[in-house]
Amino acid sequence: MFKIKKGDIVQVMKGKDSGKRGRVLNILASGERRRALVEGLNLVKKHKRQGRQDEKGGIISIEAPIDTANLMLFCKNCQRPGRVGFSILKDRTKVRFCKGCKEPI
Ligand SMILES: [Zn+2]
Repeated sequence: MFKIKKGDIVQVMKGKDSGKRGRVLNILASGERRRALVEGLNLVKKHKRQGRQDEKGGIISIEAPIDTANLMLFCKNCQRPGRVGFSILKDRTKVRFCKGCKEPI
């Protein structure tokens, strides 16, 4: 089980978008490394090739993956990024909780 997953609200802790928040659109995993695409963050400009005649070519901004090591899960309860812990319920399902307020995330 991972601390950060798709649909989470995360805060960037390092880099040019440090301090900004966004929603995880997707997780990209390769080996040990996990990176996340976060909505509206770590944007890079890409040249779009001209397609059909009615389609304009040009420069578009797309999200580049951010290493999950540089992200923290944002706790709505604490209104700040929270450290994530795991606990196991009676029915053996594993849940994440915020170490700050002890609320499940
Ligand atoms: Zn919290």
